[in-house]
Amino acid sequence: MAVRVEKCPACKVLHKKCKGADCLMLLIHKTFTGNYLTKWMAERNTDQERRDLITTLAWEASQRKLHPISGSHGAYMVVAGQKEALVNHNNILKNEKAVLQLITQQLEAQVNEQNN
Ligand SMILES: [Zn+2]
Repeated sequence: MAVRVEKCPACKVLHKKCKGADCLMLLIHKTFTGNYLTKWMAERNTDQERRDLITTLAWEASQRKLHPISGSHGAYMVVAGQKEALVNHNNILKNEKAVLQLITQQLEAQVNEQNN
């Protein structure tokens, strides 16, 4: 016999299946309120656009839960900082590669001089 899960307010409004306490729609609903969610869903033309909207809102809601003050901007700043560190590291590696290539050329020139 199937266990009946009580629908969260968001799923009741959207007439969707609900996962109860773990419902993604509940997190979105708490963050954006059901009225906006219903309006935004109605403004989407295709199922793919509605799925994209839910994915985006779920990410935004989860980031607001993780970073109550900075929200998704805080998450963006973390990623931007990681990108800057990777760009700097990549530049260091490029410089080391150039130095190694120069040393290799000098060693090859020395070997050629010794062989001649
Ligand atoms: Zn739900």
